[in-house]
Amino acid sequence: MVQIMEPFKAISPTLDLSVVIPVYNEADNLAALHAELTAVLSQLGCSYEIIAVDDGSTDDGFQLLCRLQADDPHLRIIRFRRNFGQTAAFAAGFDHARGQLVVTIDADGQNDPADIPRLLEVMEGGEYDIVSGWRKNRKEPFLTRKLPSMIANRLIASTSDVHLHDRGCSLKVYRYDLVRQMHLYGELHRFIPEVASMIGARVAEVPVNDRPRRAGQSKYGALSRTPRVILDLLTVSFLLSYSGRPMQLFGRIGLTLGGLGGGIGLYLAGAKIAHGIMEGIDGFRAYRIGTSPWLMLAVLLTVLGVQFIVLGLLGEIIIRTYYEAQGKPIYAVREIREPEEER
Ligand code: UDP
Ligand code: MG
Repeated sequence: MVQIMEPFKAISPTLDLSVVIPVYNEADNLAALHAELTAVLSQLGCSYEIIAVDDGSTDDGFQLLCRLQADDPHLRIIRFRRNFGQTAAFAAGFDHARGQLVVTIDADGQNDPADIPRLLEVMEGGEYDIVSGWRKNRKEPFLTRKLPSMIANRLIASTSDVHLHDRGCSLKVYRYDLVRQMHLYGELHRFIPEVASMIGARVAEVPVNDRPRRAGQSKYGALSRTPRVILDLLTVSFLLSYSGRPMQLFGRIGLTLGGLGGGIGLYLAGAKIAHGIMEGIDGFRAYRIGTSPWLMLAVLLTVLGVQFIVLGLLGEIIIRTYYEAQGKPIYAVREIREPEEER
């Protein structure tokens, strides 16, 4: 029997701030990031915790985190059983966070911890539920990184009322109650503001510093990332506009195709009857529709139409099951290491 661990959920925040770091093979970056973060957070004068989520690293990142933890009572470590991906790492951090505000930041040093106080300031205004970093001076190649994200931004702008310049920046601040209500899955971490906007979150954007990765390599290949983002974009657009009513989308396509097919079929039948009767009287030469490409099209479109409608209905059922089944964690935890003082 495989036992699936239910994530521990704090009922209400007991700290001011939680910082969530997804870590996948970042051993060479951890110490520097931890030092930078600690310098910034200790200046803030509030209670905080750092939650490092080790997403199945195969380097000695976990041992390194344990060593850092020995000197830092703020550091908590969640270790996954295997690599579940950045979205799952965020989800685990959110599930275990105890801070009133939750900050997410990449482990590779691309995000600058020095920006955190500015994000918090905007958050303290009370007007927003998410404050997102915007890498205004993004130092990444135009063709493989910047261009795809510009196109994605343009596409998603038409279905969402969240208007962001930058969706790939991990440095963000969330309100505790919001992270508790969000359900992340797949690779939707790039679209958290959109997912959050479905439950009515208000999102602000603040320019932040962008730095090159300190050591190691990006975990996403430039080529493999683009189709993934496009598919996620489709999912998110669909969720945003039709999640509660898939039949409206599939049914509409079905009706159009089915109607077109039926129309052509009717026309062919009419032509067959009219010509067949007229020509049949003096020579029994029926009007031949059997080889007409139009017949093929009529049949194809009708079948497609029916299929889309059936898909839509299936979608209705699946979406209901999906909502019912929520609350199931998308990751499995091997161990959680709390700092010495709490053990
Ligand atoms: N990451 C993770 N699990 C993964 C892939 C990435 O936790 O499966 C973490 C990674 O360690 C880093 C952050 O997610 O802290 C962003 O990854 P990366 O820097 O490779 O992405 P990029 O900056 O190239 O978009
Ligand atoms: Mg990075």
